[in-house]
Amino acid sequence: RTVLGIETSCDETAAAVVIEGRQVISNIIASQMEFHRPYGGVVPEIASRQHLEAMADVVACAVAETGFDGLDGIAVTYGPGLVGALLVGLSYAKALSLALDVPLVGVHHIEGHLFSTVFEYGDWDYPALALIVSGGHTDLFYLPAALTYERLGHTRDDAAGEAYDKTARRLGLGYPGGPILDRLAQTGRAEAAPLVYRPPLIPDAPYDFSFSGLKTAVLRYIREQQIVPLPEGLTRDAILAQAPDNIRHLAASFQQAVVNTLVGVLERAIVAYRPRVVLTGGGVVCNSALRQALAELAERMGVGIRIPHPKYTTDNAAMIAAAGYAHLVRGERHNWSLEPAPSLRLGNHTAARPQPFR
Ligand code: ATP
Ligand code: MG
Ligand code: FE
Repeated sequence: RTVLGIETSCDETAAAVVIEGRQVISNIIASQMEFHRPYGGVVPEIASRQHLEAMADVVACAVAETGFDGLDGIAVTYGPGLVGALLVGLSYAKALSLALDVPLVGVHHIEGHLFSTVFEYGDWDYPALALIVSGGHTDLFYLPAALTYERLGHTRDDAAGEAYDKTARRLGLGYPGGPILDRLAQTGRAEAAPLVYRPPLIPDAPYDFSFSGLKTAVLRYIREQQIVPLPEGLTRDAILAQAPDNIRHLAASFQQAVVNTLVGVLERAIVAYRPRVVLTGGGVVCNSALRQALAELAERMGVGIRIPHPKYTTDNAAMIAAAGYAHLVRGERHNWSLEPAPSLRLGNHTAARPQPFR
């Protein structure tokens, strides 16, 4: 069975066709990055408008091979995210579902991220843990069984990707900050820029994260060491060539702190929950140091840690189609009353009207 996935929760207009929740036929992503870059972050009004501009073409590209007739179901992100952005994808999905007479299912965006390893690794065993680290989320989930999610922890302040983006902005490295800080960190020495910061342990919440203390430590360091940010508007190559050593060292030190925080919490959860497998996802999982630390943790703890290919770590619709498929095969559907849910929580996913999946 062939499912069309649609994703418009933030700044990517994405559509993908996936067969049996596994085989990716197409995975089209129109990034709006260039439109938001001048503002140093995603501007909701611009996001909605760009989704409208791109939606029809992106879907047409995605179904180029299978055709609309070849679709058996439609999966669409209905939350969390920007309400105006979600509305574009959801309206389009409803209209298609009506016109083609195929079932519609709404998918939680983070549940989509949880499915992003399925294309390379296949299905997983339970219990499982899942670490999602992106621009808007830093969440740890426990999955006792299929499609059952218990959020063990989340960030108390900034998401890890957000910490990257804010730190990069302070250093004049542009937006988004993750990829460029990652590259600079590879050429710096963390010991050369010691940050006065301890990974916070939040009482009674051993699986929560916090990055604001780190952010403050970075700001203090920039002030005390009188680090001069790079001039605005440099290209990526110019930044990599021109960045002074002190910025490279700071990048390495910041990155080490983020990775230690993430891996520290995950290790605690592995000890406590003894999962059969650990799933990961979200844009920050592209990070080279995090990937390496996760691989070492997997080795040390003797548990499989699944890291998706970079094309599936950031927002895409293939993961939405895969998650949607898992719900559709159980007979779950949503009807036309499905509305965007900007602050949807994972763990109380509602599905309406069981019907056979044709
Ligand atoms: P969400 O999925 O929570 O709605 P989002 O769409 O912004 O948020 P993603 O697209 O999954 O999240 O990831 C984008 C984030 O990942 C940005 O904050 C970016 O800086 C960060 N990022 C991307 N590559 C790297 C990297 N190599 N190292 C660190 N961070 C990275
Ligand atoms: Mg994004
Ligand atoms: Fe995302």
